[in-house]
Amino acid sequence: MSRCPKITLLAGGVGGAKAAEGLASSHYRWNLQIIGNVADDQEFHGLWVSPDIDTLTYSLADLIDRQHGWGLRGDSSNTLHCLERLGAETWMQLGDMDFATHIFRTEQRRLGRRPTEIATQIAKRLGVEIPLLLPTDDRVQTRIGTDRGWLSFQEYFVRERCAPQVLEVRFDGIEQARPTAEALAAIRDAELILIAPSNPIVSIGPILATPGIRDAISRSDAYCIAISPLIGGKTVKGPADRMMSSLGYQSDLLGIAELYHGLIDALVIDRQDQPHQAALESLGLAVSVTDTLMSQPQQKQALMEHCVEFALAQQDRSAA
Ligand code: GDP
Ligand code: CA
Repeated sequence: MSRCPKITLLAGGVGGAKAAEGLASSHYRWNLQIIGNVADDQEFHGLWVSPDIDTLTYSLADLIDRQHGWGLRGDSSNTLHCLERLGAETWMQLGDMDFATHIFRTEQRRLGRRPTEIATQIAKRLGVEIPLLLPTDDRVQTRIGTDRGWLSFQEYFVRERCAPQVLEVRFDGIEQARPTAEALAAIRDAELILIAPSNPIVSIGPILATPGIRDAISRSDAYCIAISPLIGGKTVKGPADRMMSSLGYQSDLLGIAELYHGLIDALVIDRQDQPHQAALESLGLAVSVTDTLMSQPQQKQALMEHCVEFALAQQDRSAA
């Protein structure tokens, strides 16, 4: 592997964006591509909203509202208030400036442009140099089967605040979805594949479930390393731990290892989870134990540099 390896990062929303920012501020940014998640997308007020892709784009453009971890900094809610006055459902927070992104995306889709090209254009226009790729241009929608019936991902996550018990998860449209040539090439050409500390079921899950993608990763010669989204067995934010246990996985590092079985060579875990190290190593995984909480920019960069350097060192060892 070269010293500035070709890196492909698989990323969801908030956890994905932290990893993306960490790599983007390191010298590894020159050979970096990111594959995002489109299965959280949903139409609101006639507009196509792509929350995970927007979170990645706004974060990398340093336009993100850092307090929320989503939306544009300094945005206002006049449009939403006016929609509410008209009787529209307004539980999905969409800011006035943010609406511009959704209007532009929707219009471009209506004109028949590929979602990948639209995402690339939005990212470039907002100043993001790193290629932000979609796993598929087709429509894939996460559906959450709960004790309160089937919900779209945003209904579950935003409207119901993850309160319902998750019984089942499916990705509507996934069987027919075709992977994009860009995503397949990014995997094929990568020397290092990184899986961000994103929700393994609903953020990384739909990327891997896109026909051809999981296969391409397991066939690739790239070293594949995942960063655990669990710290001390718990998510930093969001429902990943509860989702894992209600879907029958162990809601700890062993569950993460199971979900990424056959894909990853190594797992980066937090110091708090060190007791799991030996069990993970006995599964044949290389394990690196470090601080994995990324609150400050320096922590994002330090963790991501650590991951790349660990992967390079592991490769050197196996080559020796
Ligand atoms: P979403 O699409 O916005 O829900 O975001 P992701 O799926 O990309 O990320 C959600 C996951 O990120 C959660 O499971 C969190 O535990 C994890 N996460 C968030 N911040 C951090 C962090 O600083 N360190 C680690 N290790 N995981 C994090
Ligand atoms: Ca998401």
